Amino acid sequence: MAFRGDLFPGSELGHKYFCVNTSCGAPSTGLSATPCLTGPTAPAGTPRHPTALGGSAGGGAAVPQPYSNPASEVPSPPEMEPDRPIGYGAFGVVWSVTDPRDGRKVALKKMPNVFQNLVSCKRVFRELRMLCFFKHDNVLSALDILQPPQIDCFEEIYVITELMQSDLHKVIVSPQPLTTDHIKVFLYQILRGLKYLHSAGILHRDIKPGNLLVNSNCLLKICDFGLARVEEPDPSRHMTQEVVTQYYRAPEVLMGCRHYGSAIDVWSVGCIFAELLGRRILFQAQSPIQQLDLITDLLGTPPLSALSSACEGARAHILRGPHKPPSLSVLYMLSDGATHEAVHLLCRMLVFDPAKRISGSDALSHPYLDEGRLRYHTCMCQCCYSVPSGRVYTRDFEPVAERPFSHSYENSLLSVWQGKELIHRFITEHQQGKRVPLCINPQSAAFKTFIRSTAWHSSKVSRKEER
Ligand SMILES: [Zn+2]
Repeated sequence: MAFRGDLFPGSELGHKYFCVNTSCGAPSTGLSATPCLTGPTAPAGTPRHPTALGGSAGGGAAVPQPYSNPASEVPSPPEMEPDRPIGYGAFGVVWSVTDPRDGRKVALKKMPNVFQNLVSCKRVFRELRMLCFFKHDNVLSALDILQPPQIDCFEEIYVITELMQSDLHKVIVSPQPLTTDHIKVFLYQILRGLKYLHSAGILHRDIKPGNLLVNSNCLLKICDFGLARVEEPDPSRHMTQEVVTQYYRAPEVLMGCRHYGSAIDVWSVGCIFAELLGRRILFQAQSPIQQLDLITDLLGTPPLSALSSACEGARAHILRGPHKPPSLSVLYMLSDGATHEAVHLLCRMLVFDPAKRISGSDALSHPYLDEGRLRYHTCMCQCCYSVPSGRVYTRDFEPVAERPFSHSYENSLLSVWQGKELIHRFITEHQQGKRVPLCINPQSAAFKTFIRSTAWHSSKVSRKEER
């Protein structure tokens, strides 16, 4: 049963409104469907035009490219496709909605429980500021924030981001063929986005396939910054261990190391690289201890020097066990795509000692990624463009952030009320001089459905808040 409701009717301030069409109980086809991955499967050398310039010049199959030409989309509400919840994000459900200002389909995310306590207030503000800070094609960013009500009624924050069609987890578990070209272009974009995040001093801390959104043209964006934080330069400062989904958790985190850095994200990418090749989770353990055992089964017993920052229990567990030789040759059996080059890069990412693990930036220089880079900048990127005589490439294929992300405000945040004022002001200032602001109608039926699904989802999320 489908129904249609005006989720965001205009207010006395003359706001335009969102018209959200919901499709209750609809099977999760459409948005959550597996992308057809047409981009990189084109034979090498086939001219492919950038979507912004070439339009349908490539001809042939209709590859959904929702952001290529918003002006061509029909803004008339009766003709819009049904929208539906798409459910990514660690904290809260995300819905597909249509922006009435340009008819473009975008994702609407509610950031729940913002003002529950000071810790969640800081976490949400940090995520919100990050989403507004990011300017990179492989990192999801905020397109807009819904206008908050007066501060006395201000309880929730709604952020609008680009709408992506699927994520890497759904792609990996689907029957969709994954060629070496796919893997190369995905891995290239993951590392390209990660280099940008790390250059801004940000650790993602929850890199996993479900947090890598993809479109049918294979464009990839890192999302979900609910656990992200700024790198801690002081090694004496303790950091939480409650990070990273277990299968992708780096050995130093599993061993209770009190201080860690960007290398934990690179480990996760290594696990995902192997998962793309083998189409199964590389280290699928039932507990953190078994997780560590599976890692040492593959890499061998680590040298003592790699255990210096481990907690006593973890060190004892490793030293008590039998000495294991490395068995990295099994990586060649992941798939036909596990060539010498692929396994070489994989072995540089899956290094037990974080100090010896390759950085995201250096991994991009590995020859395995050359083809992914070429393909990305030949037909997928926004930084290069085509002219009649050929392709004009950007000077910097993997740009860094213009400046580090600042979090100095966090120390001065002392109460929930103060946080509320700060966030309210941040959103208001963020919107100033920009497009017609959008607001929300909490009385509409579609909005109530949205809230119900959000509440259901957030009750399932029980992660420890962290420093
Ligand atoms: Zn480019």
